[in-house]
Amino acid sequence: MTDTPAPNLESARAVLAATFGHKDFRGLQGPVIEEVLAGRNALAVLPTGGGKSLCYQIPSLLRRGLGIVVSPLIALMTDQVAALRQAGVAAARLDSAIDPDEREDAWRRINAGELDLLYLSPEGLMQGAMLERLSSLPIAMVAIDEAHCVSQWGHDFRPEYRMLGRLADAFPDAPRLAVTATADARTREDIAKELRLTGAKQFVDSFARPELALSAERKTGRGAARVLELIGERRGRSGIVYAGSRDGTETLAASLIQSGVAAMAYHAGLDKGLRAERLRKFLAEDEAVMVATIAFGMGIDKPDVRYVIHADAPASIEAYWQEVGRAGRDGAPAEGITLYSSADMAFASRRLEGREVDDAVKQVQGRKLRQLYAMLDGAACRATAVRRYFGEADVEACGQCDLCLNPPERRDVTTAAQKALSAAQRLGGRYGRGRLIDHLLGKTKDVSDYESGLTTYGIGQELSAPQWRDLTDQLLFDGLLREDPNDGRPLIGLGEANAVKAVYRGETKVYVRDRPSAPAKAAKSRSGLEVASADKGLFEALRAWRKAQAAAQGVPPYVIFGDRTLVAIAAARPTSLRALEGLSGVGQVKLERYGADVLGIVRGGVSEAAE
Ligand code: ADP
Ligand code: ZN
Repeated sequence: MTDTPAPNLESARAVLAATFGHKDFRGLQGPVIEEVLAGRNALAVLPTGGGKSLCYQIPSLLRRGLGIVVSPLIALMTDQVAALRQAGVAAARLDSAIDPDEREDAWRRINAGELDLLYLSPEGLMQGAMLERLSSLPIAMVAIDEAHCVSQWGHDFRPEYRMLGRLADAFPDAPRLAVTATADARTREDIAKELRLTGAKQFVDSFARPELALSAERKTGRGAARVLELIGERRGRSGIVYAGSRDGTETLAASLIQSGVAAMAYHAGLDKGLRAERLRKFLAEDEAVMVATIAFGMGIDKPDVRYVIHADAPASIEAYWQEVGRAGRDGAPAEGITLYSSADMAFASRRLEGREVDDAVKQVQGRKLRQLYAMLDGAACRATAVRRYFGEADVEACGQCDLCLNPPERRDVTTAAQKALSAAQRLGGRYGRGRLIDHLLGKTKDVSDYESGLTTYGIGQELSAPQWRDLTDQLLFDGLLREDPNDGRPLIGLGEANAVKAVYRGETKVYVRDRPSAPAKAAKSRSGLEVASADKGLFEALRAWRKAQAAAQGVPPYVIFGDRTLVAIAAARPTSLRALEGLSGVGQVKLERYGADVLGIVRGGVSEAAE
């Protein structure tokens, strides 16, 4: 795009301001871009919302030739291409969903050297003919988005990503940049190896998400009612609800619709066209709630999602972080709320055992599962637990998760735990949890002489049945008890032998935490944008204008201007193009396209307010 011989960070900053309307780089964007501009390979792990896309978009604009972006999802590509075009960047995608005319036009522009960025799926790029055509052209760089998909240690392994190692041969002169939001040390190693980025510099940013208020609660058996309540408290905001099963998404969405929420179900069992339609709606609406399985995942770039609720527990801490990470990408306050149960955990272990993967992989995944529940059911700051999990050192408590706001009391229940474990041992894993608790309380119906003769029969009078239920949950989360699903009539048995022994001997203490009072309430006030009440009217007017613009152009509203930009406009009330240009998110092309409109609305808004 430019004929400056060696683009550097200065030229990158100029593009950042002129094209994207941002004043300064965020986090590690600058160093990553500098590395790629110097023609070197790199691996960047930046948190969701950290601005990964600029790390390859800007070098693609500055270096000679075409920038190639490999991305796993059509929705993600569509979105980024739409956003780039709004900013006046020549971008296109070549995937199975575009029509022949568009395809031809894209190729014409590629061959004429007019295109700056080209988005492709891994399968699309690695086709023989495609690779051949592209490798004869000047290529600015190759970006591999969602690079954790290449690793089977990660949580999102995609076999087609394995082919991408060959990019090293196809584009020997172009720097390659792998980016992802989640990769622990082992996954990073795998990415570097598989994508042949050995020796490449790794940039790993902090995993902190200061705008996200986290909370988690054990399910209380009220089922969907709790989820409905949580969403009811967050009306008028866009959210994602993750449920563990397709049926679960359908029933939840139906109840939500009944109570007047603009909810939609989304899962892999739905017709492709319907899924695309619902995704489009979700992106276009300010208040839509998507109730989805994890099929609704990667690449959901809607920046103004204000909450993510897990109606069922996620699969691992990586999955958790990626999923709750879809809230608050615009940096405005948002929430991640997780409901979990020991049954969720038992279900997940069983599914893992049934998977056809190496034992080594199973072991790693099993440990990841335990780490997830240790975090969910733990007593210390959630954000800290996650960041430590990803290998961050010197992490401070977040000060805004449910556990930071309401530190739970810990109670030593080692003696009671010993009783429960020894009762489970004597009952030999043949009964369910209810029967175990009856046994401890000495209340078993029609008890046999054998059972009433066991030393553990009736030794648990110090706790009530609900308290025993809590404690057995705790022991399940700690892996001291195990639940055998037994086709829906779960049986309780002893867990990991050495760990149980340590509790018997008193070497490991067992604590329960008293539930913090009303965790979700504490976080409630945080979700939503901070619009001063004097600016509300103008903000809404801008929002309505944006919605009409978006509908007319057939693009999601946020590619026109993000919420934060609208808030900034409403607060600053610019009266000239110069003043508007100074606001974050207003680049030159958008200034030309929308500046007059926006100033008009501000003028209207001001005089209205003055009347
Ligand atoms: P990621 O892919 O890392 O989750 P994106 O690239 O989608 O993040 O960027 C998230 C949001 O942050 C976008 O709305 C983008 O415009 C904004 N953003 C990115 N870089 C900057 C920056 N340097 N200054 C201000 N906003 C930025
Ligand atoms: Zn915290």
